[in-house]
Amino acid sequence: MAKSKVIAIDGPSGSGKSTVAKKVAANLELTYLDTGAMFRAIALYLTTKKVSSGETSKIIELLDKLKFEYQPEELVLIRLDGTDLTEKIREHHVSQLASKYSQVSEIRNYLKNMQREIASVRPSILEGRDIGSVIFPDAALKIFLTAKPEVRAQRRLEELRERSPNESYEYQSILNDIVKRDQSDQNRAVAPLVKASDAIEIDTSDKTIEMIIEEITLLFQERKKDFY
Ligand code: C5P
Repeated sequence: MAKSKVIAIDGPSGSGKSTVAKKVAANLELTYLDTGAMFRAIALYLTTKKVSSGETSKIIELLDKLKFEYQPEELVLIRLDGTDLTEKIREHHVSQLASKYSQVSEIRNYLKNMQREIASVRPSILEGRDIGSVIFPDAALKIFLTAKPEVRAQRRLEELRERSPNESYEYQSILNDIVKRDQSDQNRAVAPLVKASDAIEIDTSDKTIEMIIEEITLLFQERKKDFY
């Protein structure tokens, strides 16, 4: 059977998924989907509406009416009910919120449908936690990125400092957050973070972005017939 024309990139926070996926998407002209951004946006939206992750029927009701706009163009744009959340979802506190709300299966189903729909139009690259295991189990190429927690915390720290130079961030608290989020993402009941059995694992701890991109591009070239 034909495989889905998708590169699935999964892995924990700070493993390099976003940077790599964005560049590979631009080089290979693939649609880029940042699924973490979608979870962040919904978490922020529900928090603003004062709906907790346990209020399932309220969540269903709100999702039913929600106008979710995701533009996978050069600069990813996320708008919920007309409000642009593209920048706000990157704030540090939203990470933990996303991790909490992402345990709600109704939210996961809502986003699963959206992700499959967007990616069905053109060959795509999706990055997240469950792309190779749940969203596209038949993806033509599955990559699982990892890195030591200390390396991931350092990357995250640099990213946050670059984004908000006036805020002060502490390495130890970022590392604690990362370990906590890993545990919650790996142990949740629905769609936990796992490496799909047919995914290729790349440890990025000692690799440059360019090295990882080259590796993925080579793997893509080997499977090119599955994409076009
Ligand atoms: O990738 P990012 O750090 O932006 O994701 C934020 C959170 O959203 C993750 O910690 C995880 O809990 C959740 N997420 C998920 N499934 C995805 C993408 C993100 O559960 N496919």
